[in-house]
Amino acid sequence: MISLELDGIEKAYNKGTDKEVAVLRGASVAIKAGEAVALVAPSGTGKSTLLHIAGLLDTADAGAVRIGGEEMTGLSDRRRTGVRRRDVGFVYQFHHLLPEFTAEENIVLPQLAEGVAQSVAAGHARALMESVGVGGRADHRPAALSGGEQQRVAFCRALANRPRVLLADEPTGNLDPETSDTVFEAMMTLVRETGLAALIATHNMELAARMDRVLRLQDGRIVCD
Ligand code: ADP
Ligand code: ADP
Repeated sequence: MISLELDGIEKAYNKGTDKEVAVLRGASVAIKAGEAVALVAPSGTGKSTLLHIAGLLDTADAGAVRIGGEEMTGLSDRRRTGVRRRDVGFVYQFHHLLPEFTAEENIVLPQLAEGVAQSVAAGHARALMESVGVGGRADHRPAALSGGEQQRVAFCRALANRPRVLLADEPTGNLDPETSDTVFEAMMTLVRETGLAALIATHNMELAARMDRVLRLQDGRIVCD
């Protein structure tokens, strides 16, 4: 099953002015459930724009976004926000965990927002943390965790509401090589266990090569590496 599909995505900034810049010029990709795809894109090529459009944080000028086979174009803002919260998980280079809450609470809160009962949410948070080796850190606040632990918790939070799609932007970009490897393995475990479709932007060619496919963003299009 195709979980995430981008079909002919076009996006320009400053449209209709002399500063118009066409960033995406027909970018297409289809990612199956359980598949982890690397996106290699030098800075300035439109990687963030593409991830934001895929994650329904921004809209394309043309082309289609389908999540779980459902066409996103033309949905109301309210429906798009609902799909984004339920079906899309984001991870960034920096963890963006809420500093005043524990690791577990950071994973519980998005579930409560979706109406999940506290005890169920806590159980799910614990299971996610166990699966990536941070079960023993549940009661720590982010500042008390190592960089690798923070990122593993960030992945757990992104997956809290069992999304279909995981979008990650340089998730290991701020980590040393050994920690990157641990976080990468944790991410792959979660992708395999949950059957997510994952699109992971990275500059790390060694990690990219260990994913199912490596794609490149070039001249506004997605090409095979
Ligand atoms: P990347 O993530 O690959 O660095 P971005 O998607 O952030 O690339 O940006 C791609 C291009 O679009 C860059 O040239 C950037 O300057 C431009 N750009 C991004 N966002 C905006 C914006 N809001 N307004 C105008 N230009 C933008
Ligand atoms: P709403 O539009 O309903 O206020 P939020 O702004 O809370 O929704 O966004 C929902 C999720 O989308 C957040 O958990 C966050 O990870 C992500 N998000 C929202 N805005 C941005 C943004 N500008 N850049 C990156 N991620 C964002």
